[in-house]
Amino acid sequence: MGNVTECTNCTGCGACLCVCPVDAISMKESESGFLYPEIDEQKCTDCGLCKARCPILSYDSLIKSECRLCYAASASDEIRKNSSSGGVFSVLAEQIIKQHGYVCAAAFDENFILEHKITNDLNELGKFRGSKYLQSKAYVTYIQIEKLLKDKKKVLFVGTPCQVAGLKAFLKTDYETLFSVDIICHGVPSNKIFLKYLQEEISDVSNLKSFNFRDKKDCWNSELILSYELKNKDEKNYIKAKKSSYMCAFLQNLSLRKSCNSCPFTNTHRVSDITIGDFWGYKKDKRLKNDSKGLSVILLNSEKGTAFLSEVQANFNYIQKSNTKIAINGNIPLRMPFAAHKNSVQFFNNLDKMSLIENVKNCIDDRSDCAVINFWWSLNYGAALTAYALQEVINDLGKTCKIIDYKLPWVINLYKNSISENFAQKYLNLTGPCITDEDFAELNRKTEIFITGSDQVFRYKYIKYFFDKYLLGFANIDKKKIAAAGSFGIDCFECENEQDLDKIKQYFSSLDYVSVREKSGVSICRQLFNKNAEWILDPVFLIDRNKYEQMAAASKMNFNEKIVSYVLDENIEINKAYKYLQKKYDKDIVNIAKSGFSVEDWLCSIKNCDFFITDSYHGMCFALIFNKPFVCIVNKSRGKERFFSLLSYLNLENKAVDSVDELYDNDELFADIDYEHKINNQISEFKDMSVNWLKKALYSPKEVTKDDLIMKMNELNNEIITLKSEIDLMHKSNFLNKIFSVKKHRSGNTTHKVVCFLGIKIKFKSKR
Ligand SMILES: Cc1cc2nc3c(=O)[nH]c(=O)nc-3n(C[C@H](O)[C@H](O)[C@H](O)COP(=O)(O)OP(=O)(O)OC[C@H]3O[C@@H](n4cnc5c(N)ncnc54)[C@H](O)[C@@H]3O)c2cc1C
Ligand code: SF4
Ligand code: SF4
Ligand code: SF4
Repeated sequence: MGNVTECTNCTGCGACLCVCPVDAISMKESESGFLYPEIDEQKCTDCGLCKARCPILSYDSLIKSECRLCYAASASDEIRKNSSSGGVFSVLAEQIIKQHGYVCAAAFDENFILEHKITNDLNELGKFRGSKYLQSKAYVTYIQIEKLLKDKKKVLFVGTPCQVAGLKAFLKTDYETLFSVDIICHGVPSNKIFLKYLQEEISDVSNLKSFNFRDKKDCWNSELILSYELKNKDEKNYIKAKKSSYMCAFLQNLSLRKSCNSCPFTNTHRVSDITIGDFWGYKKDKRLKNDSKGLSVILLNSEKGTAFLSEVQANFNYIQKSNTKIAINGNIPLRMPFAAHKNSVQFFNNLDKMSLIENVKNCIDDRSDCAVINFWWSLNYGAALTAYALQEVINDLGKTCKIIDYKLPWVINLYKNSISENFAQKYLNLTGPCITDEDFAELNRKTEIFITGSDQVFRYKYIKYFFDKYLLGFANIDKKKIAAAGSFGIDCFECENEQDLDKIKQYFSSLDYVSVREKSGVSICRQLFNKNAEWILDPVFLIDRNKYEQMAAASKMNFNEKIVSYVLDENIEINKAYKYLQKKYDKDIVNIAKSGFSVEDWLCSIKNCDFFITDSYHGMCFALIFNKPFVCIVNKSRGKERFFSLLSYLNLENKAVDSVDELYDNDELFADIDYEHKINNQISEFKDMSVNWLKKALYSPKEVTKDDLIMKMNELNNEIITLKSEIDLMHKSNFLNKIFSVKKHRSGNTTHKVVCFLGIKIKFKSKR
């Protein structure tokens, strides 16, 4: 039947948790602090109810209505003082409580955890007043609300549209006494981010008395101001939103929940009876009066909502009918969701690694410590995961990192909607597109360390036309340049072009730290480039295997009890070998090479298969990471050295064959691998050495060497030569103009052409 693990745009509404008949769902906090459902497979009966009721998975069947009427309104000054807009919430809430009903809305507890709470006490309304710009836990009230509704009590529920949708999806019944109000919603950061902000920039929460996200000290529609009070002091403290790291991150869409960036509720088909927000478009309606103390917009979406407003109309200080179009034009979330800031991935990656203020500043200034160039875009699982792993290990070592968005021109069309693009959007912290020299110059202004690697960034065949990029020729002289696990692919450097080789040697000499992925790379660097290089592991081994397991868990595919084949260069011989393996293991074989699977599916296939066969270097790496029995068919044209360098370090050379024929009746090839006592320890030792090398490279100071200066001088020299020849050309063309020119000359009604050759002028009468 399936369940809510299929919901990739989960809002955290919690409806699934409340409908599960066997309590198999709990809400777990992600690293960014947002809550997501987790299913206890032991308890789950696969009834499919959570999936059927999830308001995102069943969005089309949610009851929605188009907002029909629009009002501008404001409550008394007293109410508005502590309300974020015109105080509509309070007017509606008071009415419901006076009618012996209940109000459910968001309020902080004493630890500044935001949760929805239910009250029927007018005196308690104060704690609900005011917008709190973070996600509230609303689902904790759903069951109690249902009970009240079943008892025929009136209930006013106020929340974000996804919370209203969550409540309605849970209730399923359209209760006559439920009044639902949703707020126009920009999106939400997590409570974790807010607590980090309080702790780092405001106060320990134990000493915090109050926090107001929208203090109307000056007025409602001027600069946004926050305020707070401490328990041990009487005065109120004010902070301009633009000076608050938390608000900058919120308003610039760095810190929003992922679902907010593609929120399906940001339009005029509303799930509530009434929608409320700030009336930002008020200036466009001449009828409206704004006293700067707060003006709300009210959108009426249902008969019930319309009737409720006419009941309370007299309780407003000011109410005026307006135009729905004006409200929509003035408020973006009524038209579309806010796109995530381009550095949102970077923001969440670094949430626990640095202070909020530093993180936000880096993201907004678009700065990072490191920028990495490699083949992440090349429609290849290994390349994407290598880039990700390098980004993560650099982050783990305490440096911020971006992957340079530099793609070869001919892949740009293939890239759209590819596995690489989908992966990059989710997992890579990309720079802006780097195409022109100016883009690279801009990158230099925002980055201190440039890194090339890993993968075959040293293979001439692949970088022939772009070695200035892959060998970091674009990095300024004062920038640190690191090659991390660069691979030559084969055991030599196959460049025969002398000019290129000279240039490549110069680029190599200006690299500050060089490490290579294959052992043979060490001697290539020494002999050909006179450079000391360290042999280190491919970056995919340098991060916790957990990260890949989490990615694999996102796949819906099932590879249990299967042999998985990832062979890029298939042929008849391989197909015969598949039959042999099928028979040998008595298992089906799944060929994933041309499947178009996502990176998550690819990882899942290796992680969960019973046996793995591949001709891919990274296929082999992940078989090792997931401790799988495997065999490699060495792909010579793609680079044999890549396999044997690592396999011989692990004494596993016998797991690779040069040709398919060697597969048959080869007991050694299929013998068990002792991961537990041997291989994992060897990899772990090599990993420690590799991470230490990278750490040293990242943290050692940059020294500008004689080679750097010579190269810079050569570059400048070349630029001077080019400039000189351009100037010469200009002079020549001036001279040509002098000896030969054609001009038009007009006198009265007659036009002549004057041809001038070596100072002799000849006049022709022009034809009309
Ligand atoms: C996260 C967030 C984003 C918003 N984005 C916009 C926007 O882009 N444009 C716009 O016009 N208006 C936005 N609003 C709404 C606006 O800020 C006011 O909340 C709204 O106009 C109601 O104001 P009021 O004066 O009537 O009542 P207030 O007294 O300000 O009432 C606030 C009401 O909102 C509820 N509430 C407060 N915080 C939360 C929360 N985190 N989650 C769920 N419910 C909450 C309270 O429980 C209360 O019912 C947003 C509000 C929030 C909470
Ligand atoms: S499928 Fe059914 S039992 Fe399993 S988690 Fe969903 S609601 Fe619960
Ligand atoms: S959107 Fe709500 S119902 Fe759907 S999976 Fe997320 S928490 Fe569960
Ligand atoms: S933007 Fe959409 S998904 Fe995000 S909190 Fe608001 S309603 Fe929910």
